[in-house]
Amino acid sequence: MSATPAVQVSVVIPVFNEELNLPTLFTRIYPVLDALGRSYEIIFTNDGSQDRSFALLSEQHARRPDVTRVIDFNANYGQHMAIIAAFERVRGETVITLDADLQNPPEEIPALLAKIDAGHDYVGGFRLKRNDSFFRTYASKLVNYVRKHTTNIEMTDQGCMLRAYRRPIIEAIVRSGAINTFIPALAYSFSSNPAEVGVRHEERHAGASNYSFYKLIRLNFDLITGFSLAPLQYFTMFALASSAGSLLLVLVLAYRRIFLGAEAEGIFTLFGILFFLLSVTMVGIGLIGEYVGRTYQVVRARQRYHVREVLETR
Ligand code: UDP
Ligand code: MG
Repeated sequence: MSATPAVQVSVVIPVFNEELNLPTLFTRIYPVLDALGRSYEIIFTNDGSQDRSFALLSEQHARRPDVTRVIDFNANYGQHMAIIAAFERVRGETVITLDADLQNPPEEIPALLAKIDAGHDYVGGFRLKRNDSFFRTYASKLVNYVRKHTTNIEMTDQGCMLRAYRRPIIEAIVRSGAINTFIPALAYSFSSNPAEVGVRHEERHAGASNYSFYKLIRLNFDLITGFSLAPLQYFTMFALASSAGSLLLVLVLAYRRIFLGAEAEGIFTLFGILFFLLSVTMVGIGLIGEYVGRTYQVVRARQRYHVREVLETR
């Protein structure tokens, strides 16, 4: 991070294949920021787009070199890595994150800043009325519930990236060297005075979501294992309870063997129980693997992303 903050507001926008949205984003976001009456910068991270996104971003940089910076990744590292890379370079006293697809209206930025001015160090947006598919909306309700009960992170809407952070929170996030971590949750854990505001949510302006069902599952798995040991602990508790049950069963079977004689009809029950315990074991191994995997990533300490080029004039 640069040593001295030179501007009041930094806006961070990850971009992955957004050529259809960028022109509209440009025409909407610059007027909003110009009207703030504060010094600002916008940092776009091009997350390995395959389309004309980078060309559009360089063009925009040429047009507004005073307030536009572009980080160009060599490949796709994911939305959160793109945001971290920008966090490592922001100069703002307050930082705002935003999606490039205009689902978060840039016109809501002043509302977030008002909360920051009121003394909050972290302001999360939550979508007042979601314009996503029925399935997406309910899947994320379920995920919110699980997150709340496993990680103690209170967030109305973890999927909304329209958020504002005071600089110390950003510094803490950068220092944490997080891998694959869910930024809103990380910010929440470093915040001492968080707030939330309702924001409008629009349909994706153009193109399709970059999150497949598969990517969403991975992200949420990451979120839960990244913030708590609860899954591991639940698993251990369950394993203990089922070993107690199995022990009881062995005693019952032994009693029957001794007093009633040998019986073979129960063999399938035994198979049933065996398969059940086996599946419990496999889930457990998977869970442990998840934590070991994370440990491995940290220990390996590999460069998390690679920047090909940074366009900046100042
Ligand atoms: N994004 C990114 N890298 C990725 C996927 C997405 O930088 O690998 C960006 C994308 O350009 C957008 C934001 O992250 O600005 C949110 O992505 P998307 O709209 O696909 O997610 P959704 O709104 O469906 O959660
Ligand atoms: Mg979107």
